[in-house]
Amino acid sequence: MLTYHFYPPDFSGQGISLVAFFILMFFVSSMPMVINNTPIFLIQWVTMAVFLTFGLLAEMILVQLGILVLLLRLKIQKDQLFRLPLNSLLFFTLSLLSGLAYFAMGGKIGVDLIDNPQYFWVAAAYPVIHFTLNQVLISVIQAALYGRKISFLEKDLIWETITSLITFPIGLILYILYSEVGILALLFVGVPFVSLSIILHLYYSSEKVIDYLQKAADIGHQMAERLDVNEVMELFILKLSEMLPVDYAYILDIKDNDELHTIYRIEHGKMKKNDLKPTKKSEGISGLVLGTGKSALFHSRKKWKSIAKEFLPGDAESLICVPIIRSNEVLGMLLLSSAKKRSYEKSQLMIVDILCSHFAIAIENAKHYEETKAKSERCALTKLFNYRYIEAKLNEEFSRLQNGERELLSLIILDIDHFKKVNDTYGHQSGNEILCELADRLTNLINTAGIAARYGGEEFVVLMPETSKDDAIGWAELIRQNIANRPFILKQNIDGRSSSTKVYITASIGVAAAPEDADDSLALIRHADRALYVGAKRAGRNRVAEYVK
Ligand code: GH3
Ligand code: MG
Ligand code: MG
Repeated sequence: MLTYHFYPPDFSGQGISLVAFFILMFFVSSMPMVINNTPIFLIQWVTMAVFLTFGLLAEMILVQLGILVLLLRLKIQKDQLFRLPLNSLLFFTLSLLSGLAYFAMGGKIGVDLIDNPQYFWVAAAYPVIHFTLNQVLISVIQAALYGRKISFLEKDLIWETITSLITFPIGLILYILYSEVGILALLFVGVPFVSLSIILHLYYSSEKVIDYLQKAADIGHQMAERLDVNEVMELFILKLSEMLPVDYAYILDIKDNDELHTIYRIEHGKMKKNDLKPTKKSEGISGLVLGTGKSALFHSRKKWKSIAKEFLPGDAESLICVPIIRSNEVLGMLLLSSAKKRSYEKSQLMIVDILCSHFAIAIENAKHYEETKAKSERCALTKLFNYRYIEAKLNEEFSRLQNGERELLSLIILDIDHFKKVNDTYGHQSGNEILCELADRLTNLINTAGIAARYGGEEFVVLMPETSKDDAIGWAELIRQNIANRPFILKQNIDGRSSSTKVYITASIGVAAAPEDADDSLALIRHADRALYVGAKRAGRNRVAEYVK
């Protein structure tokens, strides 16, 4: 009211022009320039021209409307709504102080600067005062609100100075041109400015996409280098979280061609158990994505709430769902969510899509590697570890013993008695069945107490780290009894008749232990073997013998 009283607006039939200025401002504020990922709204040049033309009150109203448009455009969250009155007050003060300063310097409203060049410098000083006051006010508010130190050389300030240097002359030109040609001036100045905004906006979005693509390629390479399925998943989610705001991340695997099971789950940066209820392939958000074959992007909970069948925490808002596809086959699904609305853009969805292809390849490679590795470590018949694996393991364990990581290491070696006879009586195939059954019994019996392996034909070993010789002898005795006391059931007969036959077998077992019996891994095997032949076989078989020097 005071403003109105002391500086009555000079609208004199220029209501239409004011509306035109408002429209111009609306356009400018809804097309921000994006610099360093921050939208920059340059409306000062419009409000400045309005001030010089119509006076303080008109400028104040326009600025307040502008703030409203800006905040709507930025789609601020509810918890950020406090910024509205704060910004209003800030800009109100700013308008008032700069306006008063202008009048104090002898500035006039609506003066023709071409005919009265003496007023030009006052008009030019107005934006400088406006700019300086703005910086001072912002610093004061930051210091008061956030306790931040006032630093005048921040990046923001540099950008503001540069953009102000560009926009204030435009404001002055708009004012002069408006006073010469009227409303057409808005078109002459507004159209180039808005076009420039659009071009810069496009330029920065493409820059951003290029940057994302480069990152995606980089992540793709890094994933390709990992040979462990879990490591690939970990890296994938980690990198996604670095690129995008991710509060929840799920990797779903299609099992039995029908159900989606969570195989990786991160919530607020923490790994969680994969114990979520599986969903049907045709249900929920993933069902929709599978049905259309296209990734989906939702800006808020409202948009997906009605279709979701998947478990999603209560505060999940923005959501991305992308199929993981390899050779035209959907292997699984990626679900990302953020607790904020509008966290993801379309261009980001595209990048996630590309990353999912890299991920699918990396996972397939890692799986293939793991399968090959497992095959090379195991015996094809019994699925036990093989000679190669157990020898490497033995060397490894021996080094641990030597560098003090372990104190004890025992080795059990087992040879089936008269196995040639079993083969002769029941056939080679039946012999194989017995070997498999024996392998199963060994694994179940030893469990985690040691590592069982098939050492050769009908010979098996059990490597027992951190087990004393006496304990190992105890285990060996258990194994011996388990073999001798329970018959092996053969499902097929030598004649091909499908009857089941009980076969009783026995085994001879030798035990040696480090450090007392051996200084190196080869000696440990040799000595256990010696115990087997000398102590057990020669002494009549079906017995356990320990190595004696
Ligand atoms: P012992 O050890 O008690 O002296 O007598 P043995 O008859 O078991 O003698 P040896 O250990 O020398 O013979 C091993 C036999 O085991 C020879 C071979 O026919 C049989 N054998 C080795 N590997 C396999 C296999 O993979 N499958 C089957 N069915 N038999 C095998
Ligand atoms: Mg043998
Ligand atoms: Mg034998």
